[in-house]
Amino acid sequence: MHKILVAIATFGLTSAAFAQADTTMMREIYRQSLTKGEAYDDLRYLTKEIGHRIAGSDRAEKAVKWSESLMKTLPFDRVYLQDVTVPYWDRGAPEKAIIKENQDTLQVLALGGSVGTPKGGLEAEVLEIEYLSELQNHGEDVQGKIVFVNKPWDESLVETGTAYGLNTAQRSRGPAAVAKFGGVAYLFRSLSSSTRDDFPHTGGTRYVEGIDSIPAMAISVVSAERLHSALQHNPKAKVYLEQHSGWKGPVQTHNVIAEWRGTEKPDEIITIGGHIDSWDVGEGAHDNGTGTMGTLDAIRTLMKLGYKPKHTIRLVFYMNEENGVHGSTRYGELAAQNKEKIIAAIESDAGGFAPRGFDIKASRASVDWIQATWKPLFEQQYWVSRFLEGSPGVDSGIWAEQFPNTVMFNFRPDPHRYFDLHHTAKDVFEAVDRRELQSGVAAIASLLYLIDSQIDQLPK
Ligand SMILES: [Zn+2]
Repeated sequence: MHKILVAIATFGLTSAAFAQADTTMMREIYRQSLTKGEAYDDLRYLTKEIGHRIAGSDRAEKAVKWSESLMKTLPFDRVYLQDVTVPYWDRGAPEKAIIKENQDTLQVLALGGSVGTPKGGLEAEVLEIEYLSELQNHGEDVQGKIVFVNKPWDESLVETGTAYGLNTAQRSRGPAAVAKFGGVAYLFRSLSSSTRDDFPHTGGTRYVEGIDSIPAMAISVVSAERLHSALQHNPKAKVYLEQHSGWKGPVQTHNVIAEWRGTEKPDEIITIGGHIDSWDVGEGAHDNGTGTMGTLDAIRTLMKLGYKPKHTIRLVFYMNEENGVHGSTRYGELAAQNKEKIIAAIESDAGGFAPRGFDIKASRASVDWIQATWKPLFEQQYWVSRFLEGSPGVDSGIWAEQFPNTVMFNFRPDPHRYFDLHHTAKDVFEAVDRRELQSGVAAIASLLYLIDSQIDQLPK
């Protein structure tokens, strides 16, 4: 056993000695991760050998099997697959969008869940608005038109997740809102933080029963600006759209799970992980190859240091976060059915950029305690200083209601570049920096160690 671990395991330490032991342990974790971490190499395999992996696809299943075999190379006590049924959505042949009068080709991607255009494509005039709420002012004018929601991103916000959230409802509700007024297709300005971005960003959308399902596409920011100019010049300009996407029925797939049994309280579980699926463009590197490979490597880092957890640490790669969250829903159902005691959760699904901290879903007293006790360990040497009350992450959030007492942490790396790459062909391995990724692995491993060794001290 490692010397420092013997010290940590020794009873009767004063709180100063505890803090000293934590400082020493974290230094070991950071050294291990920065010099010998393997998340980056695993990420290369996932992104380059498997590639993007939308739930229900063959590649997603390949990612499941490979993840399972990777987990089996580590000293986990149990590795298993959890059945999940997902509806499979397939993009089909590449989309087309062309301004008829000047034959200008626009960069577009079908929104996830969208139906295709009718055979032979679709051609119509375009109604440009910023908000869906404007539809009612246009009334009958919407009939037979392609509705183009051209709402620019709020560049003033450093919290890019907030800027993203300002407009996601227009992406998901757009097609139904437009169809209700007789519109024939939906064109949505991509949710991108960059004004110079000519890559369309896909993302989920949905239909409403009883309202026609019309084709829905994301258009790149640069193409949106070009279409805007064309419409300024000629409001009657027509656009041709073609897309071949559609739902392909339910597919049986899996969450991938590994357990490292606790030595003192094996029935108390710490869940850690992120989603293994991705959108069907790019390589799903930052979203969410870094989250899955990073959390696995955080556990491997503790294993390599000879750490023995008190509680059971359970690594979960959720399936289908991007277009249905069926994996985390299933995970929560089974955990509740089995009356599991999940004391804490860590989710990583915000990219593999330099770590900044964690958002915490816990009682006010617990957040205060974490800020007073753990935050100082991170902020002085490691530039990790955000420990704020906040959202637990999408997958943890799905089962949070059934586990109201679980303390949940959401990994927060630097937010500036994430929404430039998010859900695009640009989200590839090359966009990830090894040192930033491994620094995040170290932050997550440190938090996992602190949770496991000290969660019992958290105020109730
Ligand atoms: Zn994600």
